[in-house]
Amino acid sequence: VKSIAVLTSGGDSQGMNAAVRAVVRSALFHGIEVYGIQRGYQGLLNNDLRPMDLRSVGDIIQRGGTILQTARCKEFMTPEGQEKGAQILRDRGIDGLVVIGGDGSYQGANKLSKLGIKTMALPGTIDNDIPFTDFTIGFDTAVSIVVDAINKLRDTMTSHERSSIVEVMGRHCGDIALYAGLASGAETIIVPEVPYDLEQVALRMQENFQHGKRHSIIVVAEGAGSGEDVAREITARNGIEPRVTVLGHIQRGGTPTHNDRILASRLGDFAVRKLMEGDSAKSCGIINGEYVATDIDTVVNTKKPFNMDLYELALRLSQ
Ligand code: ATP
Repeated sequence: VKSIAVLTSGGDSQGMNAAVRAVVRSALFHGIEVYGIQRGYQGLLNNDLRPMDLRSVGDIIQRGGTILQTARCKEFMTPEGQEKGAQILRDRGIDGLVVIGGDGSYQGANKLSKLGIKTMALPGTIDNDIPFTDFTIGFDTAVSIVVDAINKLRDTMTSHERSSIVEVMGRHCGDIALYAGLASGAETIIVPEVPYDLEQVALRMQENFQHGKRHSIIVVAEGAGSGEDVAREITARNGIEPRVTVLGHIQRGGTPTHNDRILASRLGDFAVRKLMEGDSAKSCGIINGEYVATDIDTVVNTKKPFNMDLYELALRLSQ
């Protein structure tokens, strides 16, 4: 491998910059030329590539977002678009590509690999919905942001409102709700992976207040329903009117935590090393501290298992 490119695609996440930095610096360390592709697959089709040097990724490890920007690109979903992208890379003598993004971006990388471009995919999403890695890049920061928000809500709740519903992101994955809920002592965590009974939730809330509890926090994953709907259902059952906070895109911003920076640094370097070995169409992950490369095909066709142990622990501790 003499020359590789890197792009970020789909929704951005904190730590993408740290991953880009790791890919660039690791490649240069090994004497490999690196190109940065601006705005994901759209930028590839627009031939928007620039050579990256050591300084081009200076002062970004601590920044949220992505200096390469990201985009969604319809044209790249078509076989013609994919062939055009592969040809642009071939013409420039680029034989390897690192894609940082979510599952859609993974599929794009898979298609390019079938056209002879060696590809590595890195899990860049706050949702933690990509299997064959313990965590995705951005998840740790998103959870910290939710925990911080719940801390603040607790202060005001204990003085005024007594119950709060916090709706968090994660799409069809409940991990942000689960980890943030456990870490912030939420009374109830509602996730798409576990069936829930609002009758029980409302009853429990009422009983807890009767037994002297002064505040109650319910974390709702967006994939399980909206915070407003849950609030309405609860009020209808027990008369309590919880305040709803929808955290939204705040969860995707801000400086990445050290965990995300280290994960991104390790995975970026791992991707370059795998490309140097001649490997392709793999998703890079870390499981129990060990590097793991898994076929993208397997990754996109597997649902990430839900951590029931943590969920049950959260339940036991939220009496
Ligand atoms: P997030 O999980 O944050 O939304 P994502 O990577 O899943 O990130 P998508 O919008 O699904 O986001 O995909 C990003 C881009 O990847 C698409 O705009 C498209 O260009 C490309 N892509 C998605 N699916 C495919 C596919 N099946 N084949 C080729 N390219 C694809």
